[in-house]
Amino acid sequence: MTSFELSREHEEFRRSVREFARAEIAPHAAQWDRTHHFPIDTVQAMGALGLFGLTAPAEFGGAAGDFTSLCVAIEEVGRVDQSMGITLEAAVGLGINPLLEYGTQEQKERWLPDLIEGRTLAGFGLTEAGSGSDAGGLRTRADLHDGSWALNGDKQFITNSGSEITALVTVAARTGERPDGRPEISTIVVPSGTPGFVVEPAYDKLGWHASDTHPLTFTDATVPADHLLGERGRGFAQFLATLDDGRVAIAALALGCIEACLELSTTYAGERTSFDVPIGAKQGVAFRLADLAVMAEASRTLTYKAAALKDSGAPAERFTHAAAIAKLYATESAVSATRIATQVFGGYGFMEEYPIARFYRDAKVLEVGEGTSEIQRLVISRGLGLPVE
Ligand SMILES: Cc1cc2nc3c(=O)[nH]c(=O)nc-3n(C[C@H](O)[C@H](O)[C@H](O)COP(=O)(O)OP(=O)(O)OC[C@H]3O[C@@H](n4cnc5c(N)ncnc54)[C@H](O)[C@@H]3O)c2cc1C
Repeated sequence: MTSFELSREHEEFRRSVREFARAEIAPHAAQWDRTHHFPIDTVQAMGALGLFGLTAPAEFGGAAGDFTSLCVAIEEVGRVDQSMGITLEAAVGLGINPLLEYGTQEQKERWLPDLIEGRTLAGFGLTEAGSGSDAGGLRTRADLHDGSWALNGDKQFITNSGSEITALVTVAARTGERPDGRPEISTIVVPSGTPGFVVEPAYDKLGWHASDTHPLTFTDATVPADHLLGERGRGFAQFLATLDDGRVAIAALALGCIEACLELSTTYAGERTSFDVPIGAKQGVAFRLADLAVMAEASRTLTYKAAALKDSGAPAERFTHAAAIAKLYATESAVSATRIATQVFGGYGFMEEYPIARFYRDAKVLEVGEGTSEIQRLVISRGLGLPVE
């Protein structure tokens, strides 16, 4: 494939998501951000619009669409509000997808229809206080006794894990030891309300104020043996695959952020005058906007190239490489774009009365979640065949 122009259907779909995002999310985003409010009604409205079920089979209420459509939806929502963008991204990528990919028919029938309809949310508990990038170093244990898993440990920074409508968290845990002495890691579905599973108070974050993020603790939290998700001991491989998709989705979220910066600052540069002319007449400003346009175009191409590889069933290594490249470039560009855009706004860039200040705070985490920039560089350099550790 040499062109990454989206199809007419994708562009029509984009228009419908854009209309929704501009009508239902944009007018409230500043207020939710200020009050750290997680808007359940709006999350459920995204579900009713079908955004959570875009890639899920019709059997569970999904649209059986492609991954590219999901990226379009995340980009458009992220363009007006990064908090709702990450809520959608995590609801699908970290909540629904592991169940869809690895769940038994019974697990799918039990959980997916509500998740896809947006009546409920699910979280993905991998990160711990002592292990983030080095996710395989996790300490949470799950021990199988008398037909039940007993979980003990803690998780950190888990998105969509403690909202009023969170139904479950998929937890990565040590379930034993391999013959080579390394930990055996598996994933287990822990429904909200399970005794011993405690959702700690939400974090006070730099950005993404309207998204739901909590630490979790497990003290003999016990679930039936059939809550194992996928094959025992395959947890590590499962979350690596889950994160590959997530990286492209985060790149789409970053693309939405860059586009918002470009749009807001181009308008502002045409209106704001200084020395009797619009600031956009000054090359010092106009050239920075040109830089934003380049970042948007390049991020768009890398993101939808990676999405197209996923949709065409490209070999895993190719997709992993493309996903890491898209995530690295788009997220680092988003951080640069918010810095440039706030500079174009001058003092107003520092004030919350314009959305640009919120985008500035929201962008930083894009370089961290679902694999930091350094981890993307590690994946890319390994893909080059380098013996980098
Ligand atoms: C708002 C938010 C939401 C999140 N949601 C979820 C979620 O839903 N589920 C979940 O499981 N996790 C979630 N995370 C966790 C996120 O994935 C981790 O924060 C991330 O992977 C980094 O891990 P860490 O914070 O432990 O940093 P560390 O791994 O401690 O890294 C610290 C620094 O060291 C660098 N570093 C580490 N190892 C290397 C290396 N080998 N080479 C070079 N540099 C290295 C890192 O790049 C980073 O700069 C979320 C995080 C945030 C902030």
